[in-house]
Amino acid sequence: VDYKKEFPQTIGVTNLDSAATGLVPAPVADFVFKYTSTSCANAGRSAYRKSVELTARIDFAREEIAGFFGAKTHELTFTPGATHALNWVAKGLNINCGDVIVLTKADHHANILPWMDLKKQGVQIRWVECDKSGQIDVTDFRQKVEGAKLAAFTGASNVTGAIQPIDVLVKICKEAGCLSVIDSAQLAPHKRVNFDELGADFMAIAGHKMMAPKGIGLLLANENSSGLLSPLIVGGGVIRDVTLDGYELQPFPIGFESGTPCVEGILGLHKLTNWLIEKGEDLYTHESELADICEENLRQNPKVKVIRGNLATPVMAINVEGWQPHKLAVKLDADYKIAVRSGHMCALPLVRDVLGYPEGLMRISFAAWNTHEDVEAVVCALREISNVRETR
Ligand code: PLP
Repeated sequence: VDYKKEFPQTIGVTNLDSAATGLVPAPVADFVFKYTSTSCANAGRSAYRKSVELTARIDFAREEIAGFFGAKTHELTFTPGATHALNWVAKGLNINCGDVIVLTKADHHANILPWMDLKKQGVQIRWVECDKSGQIDVTDFRQKVEGAKLAAFTGASNVTGAIQPIDVLVKICKEAGCLSVIDSAQLAPHKRVNFDELGADFMAIAGHKMMAPKGIGLLLANENSSGLLSPLIVGGGVIRDVTLDGYELQPFPIGFESGTPCVEGILGLHKLTNWLIEKGEDLYTHESELADICEENLRQNPKVKVIRGNLATPVMAINVEGWQPHKLAVKLDADYKIAVRSGHMCALPLVRDVLGYPEGLMRISFAAWNTHEDVEAVVCALREISNVRETR
């Protein structure tokens, strides 16, 4: 399979940084460009045909995108990204003084900081341990969830790729009468999720990590749980009534989408989900095979430490003996035209405290556009670099 030809952005660069953001496939980028260069209306506002047409396209996009994630149309609200979606849940739920929230050490700051803010109002946080591959400790999770109001956890680590047993974790939450919030920013780009089958209360999705344009994400809220949320942002386009005394909003999801929507993002994400359906599961197999080969090759280099979950997305963290991660990433870019991420990767509790790398790590992540040549390029480059020491 050759997906690369659909990603002209890869000409002249080996992009191994999909976990930071996805490259937009040409058919999706072209579609968005065509829409932008010919559109002349806002959605959900005016009565002329172009506006009505756009409103219908967005309704259809919501329906099909929800279907892609196994959710009902009225369970999906558009957000600017996963960070926003998680903040909306943390700040929009009625969490009170004395309530207990369960977080994991495997999570990204986006699924930690919004919950930490609740400490100011007397909310208590319990931390679930994870192992040295970023895998959440299910036994510890089960204990910590007892008596808790909510547990928030990642679907896959953005550092080690470790795929978490989200079905088991959701079941544990349900048995304990605790709400579940899943950060699927890193899982959804590599594995189809079925929100309704899973039965979770809330799920955050980052469109840009799935290869949609930037500025679009999703908050999925179970139809039985969405009523627990209050919108953080209110304004035009979402009301039932406004008087001088107050207002009444439409229910979730529309009542949560005040203001002009990110039309290009929504249409782009819609087009992308269709593109992904057309490509099928082969795409996930392709990227996963490349990552496995890369891991296997790198593990043969005694100076390279690879940290990756047993069951993982095509993502892995690397440490090269004698090299500070940022300097390594800069060298890969300057001398080999290879783009990777380095640092703490917005996961200090995991990278510094659990894995023990205060200076951070380097991350290699694969996606549809990568090829066997890309694997060879990074393996060879790290072989050469690991034979010399960094000059500080
Ligand atoms: N959660 C995880 C696990 C991530 O890796 C990221 C992005 O790096 C986010 C959340 C934030 O997503 P967004 O960029 O859509 O806000």
